[in-house]
Amino acid sequence: MIIKGNFIWAPELDRLEVREHAWLVTEGERIVGLYGQLPPEYAGQPVEDWGEAILIPGFNDMHIHAPQFPNRGIGYDVRLLEWLETYTFPLESRYRDLDFARRVWKRFLNRLWAVGTLRFSAFATIHKQAAWVLMELTEQAGLRGLVGKVNMDRNAPDSLREETEQSLADTEELICRSRAELKHVGFILTPRFVPSTTERLMDGLGQLGEKYDLPVQSHLSENPSEVDWVRQLHPDIPTYTQVYDTYGLLRRDKTIMAHGIYLSPGEKDILREKGVLLAHCPFSNSNVSSGIMPLRRDLEEGLRCCVASDVAGGHTAAMNRSVAGAAALSKLNWLSHPEQRHLKVTEAFHLATRASGAFFGKVGCFEPGFDFDALVLTPDPMDSLLERTPVERLEQFLYDGDDRHIAARYCGGARVERPFAL
Ligand SMILES: [Zn+2]
Repeated sequence: MIIKGNFIWAPELDRLEVREHAWLVTEGERIVGLYGQLPPEYAGQPVEDWGEAILIPGFNDMHIHAPQFPNRGIGYDVRLLEWLETYTFPLESRYRDLDFARRVWKRFLNRLWAVGTLRFSAFATIHKQAAWVLMELTEQAGLRGLVGKVNMDRNAPDSLREETEQSLADTEELICRSRAELKHVGFILTPRFVPSTTERLMDGLGQLGEKYDLPVQSHLSENPSEVDWVRQLHPDIPTYTQVYDTYGLLRRDKTIMAHGIYLSPGEKDILREKGVLLAHCPFSNSNVSSGIMPLRRDLEEGLRCCVASDVAGGHTAAMNRSVAGAAALSKLNWLSHPEQRHLKVTEAFHLATRASGAFFGKVGCFEPGFDFDALVLTPDPMDSLLERTPVERLEQFLYDGDDRHIAARYCGGARVERPFAL
């Protein structure tokens, strides 16, 4: 495939690459090269010419709750633990109804496609069948990523509290089935968070992680009441991070922890050493009044960080908005901590494309050897009138763009169309 257009990507936190009127050549899933002039050996082959449009890497949303998709924007006048009890758990209980689950999953995947989230790591619910259907539909949609059946066997309503051994058996069944039947969607171990998983369950999940060499996702240090609760539940383990580590759930370079707002220096040492990816979710952190993660400082201290939506703690799946939200929150943090520089929006763009894409391998850049994932952003009529640069157009899309500005999506080297007719 040969694609012509204006390409922008962010290979490093503080570096943007721009190639105007360039030719990108792919073979199968991967990029062969990006050229200022089309090499002669490709002459005469069909070209998808996007004219003045700009192409950016697809977004990777590394923390999103598929079952909470219908709750976007609802009930944010309470804080995390009350919000879970009042809004989240009653909705998640409904996914034992597979027909309901299927209807929500299709709308969820259509929305991710629309907003340009081509890869993701999602929480499903405790329900084995519903989690399986989400995996299958994701593969059918032509999107890629990881899905986890949630594990909860304590401090949950009766309708969501699992029996420990059954939770482990259901998890192992999904691991094996997804390996046998799916190509582009993998299983990720998904203990909800420490307060809802017993030692025996965490230990069993840690063993499954070892046995099948699996990635892990969970929540860490999101809210002060949650951190206190973990301390009461595990008085013998010094920190929240060490609880996960004790049970083998910080798998090296294969773990995503959402939030990480209230971390001690010792916890950061462990997270850095294990290569844990911290998913910063700016809208969720402000919606349920959790706090502001010191994102710039964490990056300077060598922690791996990305930007994610955390729907439905976050009110929108649109990652361009979360990117702009991360920059906005970082500026508010800067006002009260002037010694910490704020993050630029283009740096947050790196965190939602390349930094997150690295969890899947060579994803998030327009460079040889990378998977070709891209969004084609249509020009705004004002662009030529005002002679906007490609970077200015990217910035404006990040703040005020929406799915109407995305003309096409490519994932793993193939054009992806709207997945489901509803
Ligand atoms: Zn979450």
